[in-house]
Order: sequence, then structure tokens, then C-alpha cells
Amino acid sequence: MKYRSTRGQVSGQSFEDVVLEGLAADGGLYIPEEIPQLPSNWQADWSQLSFVELATELIYLFVGTDLTRDQVSHLVSKSYSTFDTPQVAPLVPLSNNLHVLELFHGPTFAFKDVALQFLGNLFEFFLQRRNNRGEASRLTVVGATSGDTGSAAIYGLRGKDKVDVFILHPKDRVSAIQEAQMTTVLDENVHNVAVQGTFDDCQDIVKHLFGQKEFRQKYSLGAVNSINWARILAQITYYFSSFFALRRQYPEATPKFVVPSGNFGDILAGFYAQSLGLPVERLVVATNANDILDRFLKSGTYEKNAEEGVLATPSPAMDILVSSNFERFLWYLARDNEVPEDITDLAEREQKAGEIIAQWMDKLKTQGSFSVSPKALQAARKIFGSGRCSDSQTLDTIAKYYARSPSYLLDPHTAVGVYVAETTETEGSDNTHTICLSTAHPAKFSDAVLKAVNDNGHQLDFGSILPPPLVGILEKPRRCFDCENSPDKVAAHIIDKVKL
Ligand SMILES: *Cc1c(COP(=O)(O)O)cnc(C)c1O
Repeated sequence: MKYRSTRGQVSGQSFEDVVLEGLAADGGLYIPEEIPQLPSNWQADWSQLSFVELATELIYLFVGTDLTRDQVSHLVSKSYSTFDTPQVAPLVPLSNNLHVLELFHGPTFAFKDVALQFLGNLFEFFLQRRNNRGEASRLTVVGATSGDTGSAAIYGLRGKDKVDVFILHPKDRVSAIQEAQMTTVLDENVHNVAVQGTFDDCQDIVKHLFGQKEFRQKYSLGAVNSINWARILAQITYYFSSFFALRRQYPEATPKFVVPSGNFGDILAGFYAQSLGLPVERLVVATNANDILDRFLKSGTYEKNAEEGVLATPSPAMDILVSSNFERFLWYLARDNEVPEDITDLAEREQKAGEIIAQWMDKLKTQGSFSVSPKALQAARKIFGSGRCSDSQTLDTIAKYYARSPSYLLDPHTAVGVYVAETTETEGSDNTHTICLSTAHPAKFSDAVLKAVNDNGHQLDFGSILPPPLVGILEKPRRCFDCENSPDKVAAHIIDKVKL
């Protein structure tokens, strides 16, 4: 299995290179050069596999010769041993044909753990192997967080050999629980930096550091953002595991997946699952007020909301201006619909697709938007439905499901998905079951959740929704470096802490 860039200038890369590099040198995202074939009897043979076994089968299809099946199996079982249930991602019924796929059973209670626990182990494995072969190799992961994703990265990388991780957050602008989740991790290789500034300042510092070529190379700067292929790969598993869980109960059922989306990484894994041959009725993109994906799927125009910028919503992990992983889907859309039909050679079509993506992305950057052809829009809409959920609809949905019997407490991101599941078109047959991906534990976003519930006459308190591992976290010892809003000061801190 080899990988190519969506922008057409890089191909033939190995899985290992793609994982360690993250972004391709031409600015594109890595995608597999082909979609592997599942064993012909996978539906029967895999139906009783555990999550870990299923992940092993699926991931092994994509690693080429870089890992043996045993190595994949070892990495996968290590990654999911940190989850609080062996099912890893349990499927919970909400009503008749509506189910929630709980992806928040990892160490930080958000779906990103599914990918980042695996990515951390993969980094460590590849780096240790390079060192054992005599190539000195290490990584300094540097990232900015507005609060939600930093802890998943920290928990994915804590204690890993040959890796240091620096996570910048805006001082006093992340929630108390998020700050505690990050700064109470005391492993030597974990470095929290509280920047006196905003999230944008943190991001600018990270960008600046990545732009310092010499520094970047000397310290082997790396990123763990959602463009890393290994993250998408790890997420494919739960589409399969929930399909099997559904079929065990309803042998005729076909799932429709509704996915609260931001950077399009979560739902993209569903697209790959479907491309591999998983029966999927439809993939539905659910957005909050930051609705670029919903607008695209209705109009065929992908347009930044430049005037208003990113809107702050109760589902902050989905507050984006553009969805970085959408480029991967666009590549397939371009190859199959935008390349002139008289080009029949597949390799040539794929090369052309890269050129089209490069043009689209350039247009997005310079003009703020691009449009696809009606044919391409139609093709996209065959695969993806979409819907949007406002802030008040989000809170109303949380209140509604809490008041139900049996009561279920949705986090605001999941509520966006459930609202969209309830309100978008209901095509499909009687055998269609909707699976809403639940991306976070409600306690992680307790402000919005408690407001939604208690404004409707209930008296839910923070302590009662807190999962046991988070009880007392606010009082635990912390380590965090307070830093001026200055790239040079952050760089000096990195130089001080990393032992080359
Ligand atoms: C990251 C995140 C999302 C959005 O996932 P994408 O892969 O960026 O689409 C949704 N909910 C939560 C809680 C998240 O952390």
C-alpha cells in the first residue's frame, strides 16, 4: 500500500512516512493510492470479532509492509486497553430506529481518543524502530488547543519514548475541567504552555514555529492535527463495529450514520468504510452554525464565511471556518466527476484530480470559495446528506432527551447530530436505522449541558454527571509553563526542555 498527495505532486509514499510526516510536501493530504479489497466473506467472518480484532483486520489492510499483522494487533490492543469498556465504542439505543454510538469511552472522554491513542503508539513504534536501526530519530509535537483537543493529544503521547509534546492553550480561556485534564498530566515528555493571549495567538505561534525551517528540522517538529492519515484510518473501525452490533439485533438493518462534523475527519472515515464495501444507507453531515459543509452540500459552492469568521457555539469542537479533511473527499469527487470523460486511463484521471484539487484550494485561499460542477454535486449528495443545528436547537435537544424516559444526557456535539437526524429527510426503507456518532461525554461540556437541562426546570449538578476518573481532578497537582504571547519565548522553552 502506497500513499499519494491530494494535490498530485507526491506519490509512492509508505505508510510509515505518511504517519510521521502528516502533511505532504505539496501542501496536500495523504490518501491511499488504492482502496484495498476486503476478504470476500468478511460479513460472516468478522461478525463476531471484538473491536480490537476488527481494528487489526482493517488497519492491516492499509499499512503495506511497514507493519506485520502481529505488530498491528499489539499496537491496537495497547491503544484500546485505556478505554473503560472492552466494546470501546458501545452502541446504545435512543428510540426505535435511533442509536447513539458512544465514542467517548477513552481516557479524555472525547472521540479523538479513538485515533490519538493509536497514533501515539504508532509514533513511538516507528521512532523506536528507527533508533534501533541506528537512525537517530525523535519528534517534538507542537500544537495549539482551544481546550477540547489538547487533552486527547496529551493522553495519546504521554510517556511515549522519543516524543515530546508541547500544547499551547490560551491562559484562563479554557474551561476549568479542560485545563485540569491537560495540566495534571505530569509525565516528563508533556509540556503545557499557557499563553497570555487568545487561541488564535496560540495558533499563530505554532504556525510561526513550523515556518522556522532550521528550528523545525533541528527539533523534528511534528503535528497531530486531524489531517494525519492514521487518525482517519483508526476511525474506520467503529463504522464496522457498529454495523455488526446493529445487525446482531436487526439482521436486516442498514445503517444511516449521522456525524457531528467540524474538520470532516470523523465522517470521512465513514466514507472510507463505505468505499471498502460496508453497506451504508447514507452518511449525514451535521454542522452547528459553522455550516460550510451543509452549505456546500446544498449549493455546490464551498465558501468561507469570511465576514463573520468562526462563530462561537455550544459545540466548540466543531467551530471551524473550513474543514481540512474535506479535501480528501473532494479528490475522489474530482477524479470521478470533474476530469473530462474522454480521459479513460485511471492513472491519468488521478493525476488530473490532483491538479483540480490544487486549483480549488488555491481559489479557496485567494478568493474565499470555489464551486464544483452540477454532476459532482449530485454525486456528493448521493453519498452525503446534511443538516445544520443552531445554538438554541442544540440546547433544546439536550433538554428534550434528558426529560425523556429513559433519560439520556447528550453532550452539545452529539445533540447537533441528533437534531439533524430528527429533522433531515427520511429516505431509506423500514430497515434503515440511524446511528448518531456521540463524540463527547456530557461532563466535558458541562456549562452548556447544565444550562440546557436546568433552564428547563431540572436541578442537575456538575458532580452528578462527572465520570469517576474526573472526580477530584481540579485539586490534583499540575504543571504548566506560563508564557508571554511570543513565538521566541515559546521556542526558548522548547529548546530548554527538549534534550536532543
Ligand atoms: C473534533 C470533534 C468533533 C468534530 O470532528 P471532525 O473530525 O473534526 O469532524 C466533534 N465533536 C467533538 C467532541 C470533537 O472533539
